[in-house]
Amino acid sequence: MLVEQKRGRLRSPYLEGQAKSYINDEIADVERVLKGGGRGENYCGKYAKVGRCENGHQYIKLIYCNKEWCENCRQMAHGRRIARWLPKILTMPSFGYFVFTIPMEMRGFYKDKKQLSRLRSYLRRRLKQIYPDIKALVRWHWFSEKSPCLYHPHLNLLVSCFEKLPKEELERIKQDYKKALERFTGQKIASETNPEGKVDVHYQFVSASSIKEEFLKIQRREKKQSKILRKKHIKAIRKRLASGESLDEICQDIYRAIRFHRLKYITRATFTVYNKGLAEKLKNYRNGTIWGRFPELPYEEVEKMAKQREAHSKVSQDLILLESGHCPKCGARLNWDKQLYPASLASYGKEIGNGYFELPIKIRGSPKMNWKAFREELSWKKLFLSEQAQNIQSWLKNEQKRRDIWD
Ligand SMILES: [Zn+2]
Ligand SMILES: [Zn+2]
Repeated sequence: MLVEQKRGRLRSPYLEGQAKSYINDEIADVERVLKGGGRGENYCGKYAKVGRCENGHQYIKLIYCNKEWCENCRQMAHGRRIARWLPKILTMPSFGYFVFTIPMEMRGFYKDKKQLSRLRSYLRRRLKQIYPDIKALVRWHWFSEKSPCLYHPHLNLLVSCFEKLPKEELERIKQDYKKALERFTGQKIASETNPEGKVDVHYQFVSASSIKEEFLKIQRREKKQSKILRKKHIKAIRKRLASGESLDEICQDIYRAIRFHRLKYITRATFTVYNKGLAEKLKNYRNGTIWGRFPELPYEEVEKMAKQREAHSKVSQDLILLESGHCPKCGARLNWDKQLYPASLASYGKEIGNGYFELPIKIRGSPKMNWKAFREELSWKKLFLSEQAQNIQSWLKNEQKRRDIWD
């Protein structure tokens, strides 16, 4: 990269070009939103799948497009992502939280699926060197909360088996991350605002005992603020202590709340403003990935964990069981038909939430209808459904090849 020295300031024609294109992107995005675009894929929420357990319980699941910018399914899809990963984080008695940010000057280079994967694989290898048994939930955030139109990719990792990292270790990870970035992009990290070429890597370790330690430090006035504990947490601990609860137990609860909150945070949608160019570049990229093998939990365990989910969360126990492939009624494994149905099938079911419905085992005819009319009605419905299904089959074949729908 050409970096010329002008009047003692670092200037890079490349960076200036980048900055301009970001601004143009932003204007284009705002215009797009004003025109009412970016509403997700046209199939979103229009089709459904049916799943059954061996005991005959039936469920309907609406198919969403899962595009982060889709207003139709954003919240539902977020709930499903939380429910899918929740049984995994519940096996973490402590966790480490990493955020690896891609420096400003390299963000153009990283509008590319292959390069994003390469960087993610590098980090996996690097962290495995420290902890060979690492298990992690990994997900990119594409934009920051503050500017939803400025591309700002950063990789979030919730990792098991980490502990408090010594400063030197974190520094080594940072330096290696920087070298890897420079090697992959062929660029040097340096800019006017960052002449030393620092990279942004955040790490935090959270466990019930680290929470207790932080709280005690604040009580003893050794610390004014905590990066883990918010004011509301400290207030809650003090209040519960005053009513005679044990500090260890309280810290366990606070730990669970923080862990859940972190999961909710990393699974959230960040690509909320549609940007055609970027959406096309990232199309079919599998964003959420799991490193290592989390224990495969039996139904009883998942149910127990689903019960201790955060009470205030909208993620229901049934949703957690459905997303982990269990029948919420009897716990047997669920099998989902490949066949797609029109979403209107859901009107026969009872709503569970997040696009799931429970179908009654027997659909009884209306008592007012005579037998003949009922049979006619049924055969008409059968014809209607099979016609619809045929139309959808060819579409489905293509869609099934696209993995992003199922993320
Ligand atoms: Zn959608
Ligand atoms: Zn069942």
